[in-house]
Amino acid sequence: MASDSSNRGFGTHAIHAGQQPDPSTGAVMTPIYQSSTYAQSAPGEHQGYEYSRVSNPTRTALEGNLAALEGAEHGIAFASGVAGIDAIMKGLRPGDHVISTNDLYGGSFRLFTKVFEPFGINFSFVDMTDLDQIEAAITDDTAMIWAETPTNPLMRIIDIRAVCELANAHDIDVAVDNTFATPYLQQPLDLGADLVLHSATKYLGGHSDIILGAVCTSRDDWAEKLRFQVKSAGASPGPMDCFLALRGTKTLHVRMDRHCDNARALALFLDEHPKVGRVRYPGLESHPGHDIAAEQMSDFGGMIAFSLTDDRIEAAKTVLSNTDVFLLAESLGGVESLIEHPASMTHASIPPEERAKIGLTDSLIRLSVGIEDITDLRSDLEQALDRI
Ligand SMILES: *Cc1c(COP(=O)(O)O)cnc(C)c1O
Repeated sequence: MASDSSNRGFGTHAIHAGQQPDPSTGAVMTPIYQSSTYAQSAPGEHQGYEYSRVSNPTRTALEGNLAALEGAEHGIAFASGVAGIDAIMKGLRPGDHVISTNDLYGGSFRLFTKVFEPFGINFSFVDMTDLDQIEAAITDDTAMIWAETPTNPLMRIIDIRAVCELANAHDIDVAVDNTFATPYLQQPLDLGADLVLHSATKYLGGHSDIILGAVCTSRDDWAEKLRFQVKSAGASPGPMDCFLALRGTKTLHVRMDRHCDNARALALFLDEHPKVGRVRYPGLESHPGHDIAAEQMSDFGGMIAFSLTDDRIEAAKTVLSNTDVFLLAESLGGVESLIEHPASMTHASIPPEERAKIGLTDSLIRLSVGIEDITDLRSDLEQALDRI
């Protein structure tokens, strides 16, 4: 008899959950089941798999793994993070109202306003660090609160437990985009959320070599709706990408520790630098969300945003064009360090007036701090800042 494995530690789950040696060969690593279809012994008699749009054994292993990491009953993998968000939104009905944060992943904002608003779902974007603003936005039609914390790119911290308590009192479901924190640092379901969304493209995959998404939930009704979406709308990830995501999660805990250590060191360095304005890193005690972050996260993550004392876009461009270890690229969460300019890159789809309103200024620079040697990362930023 196998012992109960559900109470194992995070690192053990990361490496083992959802997986066992392949029953036909003993292969220790889950094979890449690169097959679209499955032989049946008689019509309708199969071993649980019929067609890979619906399910695939490599994907099943990944889904079990991600569910264990989030402490969820169900994991549902998607071809991308936004495909997971799309599937959640399709679980709502025309006329439903969603409250979200006004400093949201640009792709989520685009999907909400350009795809789902025309289909009759209504959105309010508020400053979710202020519970009163959330409460004021609630209407009889509010069906969901969509939170993201830390936010992208302003690194604001939303109090997940407080938001869930408010939502609960009004019978509203809460979804949390946990991409920045990962389940190693933050577990929204434990804090009362109904759904957790991941862009596994980022830290879960961890090596910038896949596009993949996942939703974790312990709500059977939501899991059923989401699986129905996978089957009906077909945003299923391929087995190779699921294999790579599984390889990624095996080292998630080890990578995250280094991401956090490196980011903390760089945030302190930037905070002291005369050419740097405000440093947005929840690990800094001066961060307005520091106490809540310390409460709901086990560490502060690998993402930093900062502005320059010289707020002209040219100053930011000088820094962005002169780093050597930090590569100028969108995305985040890989082992390599990346630098980017939200106003012209990841958040260009947010109108300039909206960007200005929330403080997403032209000199704002976002770092995805990788796991290279900290001395190299620090001297790379130092020489780039010296050129302003
Ligand atoms: C990247 C990202 C997404 C979208 O994920 P994809 O895998 O690119 O589709 C959603 N939310 C956040 C916070 C992200 O960083």
